[in-house]
Amino acid sequence: MPLHQRTENSTNGAWDCCRYTSTVESTVVRDTANPQELLLDQQVGRLKNGRFAPLRFSQELEAQFERTVGGSRALRMSRDGLLIILIYNLFLISDYQVMPHRIWLAVLLRTCVFTPIAFVIYAVLRREPSAFVREGSIVVLSGVAATCAVILYWRVNDQISTHAPVSLMLILLVSNIVMRLRFSYAIASMLFCNLTSIAFLVKDPFLQPIEKVHMGGLVFWGGVFILIANYSLEREERLAYLLLRSNELKRVELSEANRELELISTHDPMTQLANRSAFEKEFEVLWNHAAQTRQPISAVMIDIDHFKIVNDTQGHLYGDEVIKRVALLIQQALRGKDDFAARYGGEEFVLLLPGASLESAMKVAERIRQLIKMAGSPAPSHPVPQPEIGLWTTVSCGVASAQDVEGIDRRRLLLAADTALYTAKAEGRNRVCAAPLLEPVSWQRKGYE
Ligand code: GH3
Ligand code: MG
Ligand code: MG
Repeated sequence: MPLHQRTENSTNGAWDCCRYTSTVESTVVRDTANPQELLLDQQVGRLKNGRFAPLRFSQELEAQFERTVGGSRALRMSRDGLLIILIYNLFLISDYQVMPHRIWLAVLLRTCVFTPIAFVIYAVLRREPSAFVREGSIVVLSGVAATCAVILYWRVNDQISTHAPVSLMLILLVSNIVMRLRFSYAIASMLFCNLTSIAFLVKDPFLQPIEKVHMGGLVFWGGVFILIANYSLEREERLAYLLLRSNELKRVELSEANRELELISTHDPMTQLANRSAFEKEFEVLWNHAAQTRQPISAVMIDIDHFKIVNDTQGHLYGDEVIKRVALLIQQALRGKDDFAARYGGEEFVLLLPGASLESAMKVAERIRQLIKMAGSPAPSHPVPQPEIGLWTTVSCGVASAQDVEGIDRRRLLLAADTALYTAKAEGRNRVCAAPLLEPVSWQRKGYE
C-alpha cells in the first residue's frame, strides 16, 4: 500500500518496524562474495588438491605472507643457526677420532672458514632481511659446508671417502628440513650438494665404481625425499597462514556485522537518533548517575505540531522529510557532552539533559523550538500534493526537571514533561511549557501534613 494511502490509524510502531526489518535484512543477508575471502579459499583449494602444486601465492598475497612471517622466520633461522654452528664444530671430536692427522685441516675448515661465514649470515638474519637474502644466505652456507666436507674427506682412504656423501646428505637435511628453506631454494641446495657429490665420487681414487654409484644414488634419493618433506612442510605453513588470514577476515566481518546490528537495535533507522529502547537504557544510566552525583537532571518532550495536517496535505513522504529534519536540528541544538536525544515515537522526541537545571533545560527547549520554526521545513525532494499550501513546521515542548533525584521514581520525570507538553499544546502549540520542579514523594507528604 502506498504510503500516502495509509489511514491515520496506522501505528507508528508498525511503520518503524517495516523500515527496521528491511535494514536488518540488508545487513544480515550480506554479500558473502568477499573477494579477499574468495582469493584465500581459492589458494587453499589449490594447495590442498593439487599434487605438487606451485607453492607461491599470487603476487599480492605472497607479499602479505612474507610481511607476516618473514621477520619471525629470519629470527628463527638465526636462533637455529647458532645451534647448528655449535654442532658443526663439535664434529671436530669425531674428525679427531677418525683422522687425527687431518685435525688441523678440520679446525681450519670448521672453525676458521665455516664458522665466521655462519656468524656473518647470523648477523644478516638478525636484521630480518628480504626473502631473497634470507633464503639465499642459507643456500650459500650449505654450499660452504658442502665444499668444506669435500675438501676435508678428499683422498684420505676408502673408508673416509664414504663420509663425504653422508655429510652432504646431512647438510641437505639441515638446510631443507631443520632450516626449512623455501622450496625453490631447497632445490638449489639439493642441486649443489648432488653436483658436489658427483664431482667428489668421479675423482675419488679409493671407492669401487659400484660403491660410487651406490653412494651417488644415496645422496640423490636422500635429497629427493628431503625435498618432498621440505615441500610438505612449506605447504603446511602456507595452509596454516591462509586459514589464519581467513579466520581473521571472518572475525573482522563478524564484529562489523555485530556493530551494525547493535546500531540497528539501538537507533531509529529513519532519523539515526537513539530509539525508544536505547532511550530507556540511557535514562536509567543517567538517572543513577544523577543520584550518585546529586546533580540535577531534566527531560524535554518535543512533539511536532499538527503533523497530521502536514501528512494529509503534503503526503507522508514529505512528512518523513520533516521528521528527519527536526531530528537533525534537535541533535545540532544539543551542547552538553552527555545530552541525549531519542525518537520517542512517530513525531515525538525526547531529550535527557543531565546536570541541567529547569531554567537551562527551558533555554535548550526554546532554542530548539526557534530553530525548528526557522529551519524545520525542508524543501520537498519530490512534488508535494498541495504546493500552494505553505510549508511550515513548529514544535511544542514540555520540560521537567529534578534538582535531586534521590527518592524520585524516574518515570515521574517523563510524566511531568509529557504533562507540560500537553499544556503547551493546549495553550496554542509552538511554545515551551515547564512542569513544576520534581520533589521526592516523602517531602511532598511532609508538605501536606
Ligand atoms: P498535535 O499538534 O496535537 O501533536 O497534532 P498532530 O497532528 O501532530 O497529532 P498527533 O501527534 O496525534 O499525530 C501524529 C501523526 O504523525 C500521526 C501519524 O500519522 C504521523 N506520523 C507518525 N510517525 C510518522 C512517520 O514516521 N512519518 C510520517 N510521515 N508521519 C508519521
Ligand atoms: Mg504526537
Ligand atoms: Mg504532533
